[in-house]
Amino acid sequence: MAKIQMKTPLVEMDGDEMTRIIWKMIKDILILPHVDLKTEYYDLSLVHRNETDDKVTVESAEATKKYGVAVKCATITPNAARMTEYDLKEMWKSPNGTIRAILDGTVFRAPILVKGITPYIPTWKKPICIARHAYGDVYKNTEMIVEQGSKAELCVTKPDGTVETSLIHDFAKSDGIIQGMHNLDSSISSFARACFNYALDRKQDLWFATKDTISKKYDHRFKDIFQQIFDSEYKEKFAEAGITYFYTLIDDAVARVIRSEGGYIWACKNYDGDVMSDMIATAFGSLAMMTSVLVSPDGVYEYEAAHGTVQRHYYKHLKGEETSTNSVATLFAWSGALRKRGELDGTPDLCAFADALEKATLATIEDGVMTGDLYALSTLENKTKVNTETFLREVGVRLSKIIRNA
Ligand code: NAP
Ligand code: MG
Repeated sequence: MAKIQMKTPLVEMDGDEMTRIIWKMIKDILILPHVDLKTEYYDLSLVHRNETDDKVTVESAEATKKYGVAVKCATITPNAARMTEYDLKEMWKSPNGTIRAILDGTVFRAPILVKGITPYIPTWKKPICIARHAYGDVYKNTEMIVEQGSKAELCVTKPDGTVETSLIHDFAKSDGIIQGMHNLDSSISSFARACFNYALDRKQDLWFATKDTISKKYDHRFKDIFQQIFDSEYKEKFAEAGITYFYTLIDDAVARVIRSEGGYIWACKNYDGDVMSDMIATAFGSLAMMTSVLVSPDGVYEYEAAHGTVQRHYYKHLKGEETSTNSVATLFAWSGALRKRGELDGTPDLCAFADALEKATLATIEDGVMTGDLYALSTLENKTKVNTETFLREVGVRLSKIIRNA
């Protein structure tokens, strides 16, 4: 059979440790036999980032802007231990942080649902996708410990030199603490547009929530910016797509999420997103079944798995021991990127291949063939634990069958 052709290259960002091993296996076993794969390859392994003084990360982000779609392998964010392990020139920044800053993007995380791995919340039938605003608030704050007898004020020097002050608290009766934080209209607007675009892309409702009744200026600003952008740029597009934008208070949102069936995008302020994304990931089953996509306000997409490089498994692999590492989220990063490439290029064959790849992956697990992490969770009666490579070969068998019967 002739291989599927691609019009435009995909930006391919290779990474580290066990996920780098899985990356090559996915390409060799599942993609290259069926697709005439065109990629612009960037090696984001820590070794190569160090050799290039991290320039390769910046170049890969620039290429993503140019081509519109990227797929990224998990990468090491160096810490003190990695400085010694890899003999690094510098403690290079998180590649994801660098790429996100260049693309001005928002990260959306969605769980992959599969029969046998049941969410802890019985009403959840469809994925809940979380969008976390990744700028400001408590993550860029200034804090102080305040001594009794002090008076704390918020003070802003305006462009004309005048100063506006407002009392935070008169600490007459006790020692205490204060915290100053900020956000930017430009960042909130980018976040809002990325969320509205992604909702249109997925044809799913968008929920957003803050505590605007208590925070009448700060949180209210988020609510107002979302509403203004929705009314002026997205109202009609949403109506055409048959989806809605829904705003509510954060506590009401949490209660509704638990009672819901799922199947929507939940936009969260930075802290809410940090906390709620861990809750959602755990409640749906496993971090290894969570995909992640970075979407820029001008519609550039970068797909990856939400988990890291699975270091413990990599060291076993290096010692020649068998591993049973879950490749599903990395696989879905590839299928997501190939489908988006197909949509943008108008190549339906590529989109159909992405669908088939996902279908074959889920069918493998639903047939009871799975890696150790899922084996521990699955409620299927007949299940078998397989190693990293066998799982991918089993997916490959089902993929070929789906393609042959299409
Ligand atoms: P991790 O790689 O996500 O792994 C944490 C643990 O979760 C693993 O040890 C494993 O548990 C389990 N796990 C995660 N993914 C799995 C999979 N696909 N299959 C089976 N089990 C899986 O997180 P980490 O150990 O904190 O971080 C390792 C490295 O990854 C760090 O250098 C960090 O900087 C990097 N990281 C990168 C990204 C990214 O590029 N997006 C994100 C997070 C972390 P068991 O060991 O119990 O089997
Ligand atoms: Mg968190």
